[in-house]
Amino acid sequence: MILVYADHDRGVIEPLTFQALTFARDIDPDVHAVLIGGSSAGLNASTAAAELGEYGAQVVHIAGLSDYSDYAPLAAARALVTLLGSTGAQALIAASSPRGNEVLAHVAAITDRPFVADCYSIAIGAPHKIVRARWAGNLHEEVDVDAEAADVLIATVFPHITEATTAPAAGAITEFTAAVSQDDLAVQVINRVGASTGGVTLPEAKVIVSGGRGMGGPDGFGILESIAAALGGTVGCTRVVTSAGWRPHSEQVGQTGTKVAPDLYLACGISGATQHLAGCKNSKTLVAINTDPDATIMNHADYIIVGDVNQVLPMVLQEIQDAKS
Ligand SMILES: Cc1cc2nc3c(=O)[nH]c(=O)nc-3n(C[C@H](O)[C@H](O)[C@H](O)COP(=O)(O)OP(=O)(O)OC[C@H]3O[C@@H](n4cnc5c(N)ncnc54)[C@H](O)[C@@H]3O)c2cc1C
Repeated sequence: MILVYADHDRGVIEPLTFQALTFARDIDPDVHAVLIGGSSAGLNASTAAAELGEYGAQVVHIAGLSDYSDYAPLAAARALVTLLGSTGAQALIAASSPRGNEVLAHVAAITDRPFVADCYSIAIGAPHKIVRARWAGNLHEEVDVDAEAADVLIATVFPHITEATTAPAAGAITEFTAAVSQDDLAVQVINRVGASTGGVTLPEAKVIVSGGRGMGGPDGFGILESIAAALGGTVGCTRVVTSAGWRPHSEQVGQTGTKVAPDLYLACGISGATQHLAGCKNSKTLVAINTDPDATIMNHADYIIVGDVNQVLPMVLQEIQDAKS
């Protein structure tokens, strides 16, 4: 049996969890999911369990901690450790999100087991044979993990290497009591400021209209917002843009930002640095607009437009609006 840690944000399950469930089913169809936190964390147990069941979770274990009102990595890890001791799971898997990696790293440290992050493929055995991403996916590493040290394999799944597919299963809820102390709750999200709410988020967006230094400044992003809105998508950007304070970090795509896999990624005034491509190379269609025909991104794009964003983007927006009217 494989346990999948189902991270949720105030009750909304992290979409990458569904990829992790799909990935886990390929290793062993007997997949269980784990949710930490109860209604105080915004969790509706039956709704969440039904969602996880849709993606193949036979059983959904829930630790309804009353003091767990928002993400608390060590407390989540302690709860997972409690469960690991009683379920006989052969692996504990999560999505390779910042939170998935943080929680599972705690589990590994507490139980003195190895932790393998960013996996592309896992074959449980002796040793466990794993291929995983290094350098944000620019290098694939083959790893043999000692099966004695990793009697329960603790691993995260690289984003977007598996498309989440449904495989309806029971999603039967079973509650468990986790050995979590107040000390484990010392690090916990207590407030959020600045981040926008609502709208399509980067990881789930089907269309991302992304801007780089070539947009010229924060005002340049107005047209990207209009195009994103017209296409039902969202805005992304490069690190240069977030470092300059033109856009919030939550919109950054790349190695140190979010890894995305939309149907369409429109890269505007972006050079295509390795660290940026690491986040968008799984896009189904990549369109680049750049004044420089030799920019790196042009070699990775499905379609290129050599031109100034200030001239090209208004025409793109007009075409979309005409097509919709
Ligand atoms: C450890 C590390 C981690 C990093 N992580 C990330 C990350 O997660 N995400 C990320 O994006 N970067 C990351 N970077 C930074 C990365 O190396 C690049 O510096 C960055 O991606 C470049 O951003 P850019 O394409 O916006 O800017 P530039 O490289 O300056 O490119 C601007 C492009 O705009 C074009 N242009 C200029 N004017 C116009 C115009 N009017 N019309 C059309 N095109 C125009 C230019 O030809 C150029 O190609 C990281 C770097 C390091 C060292």
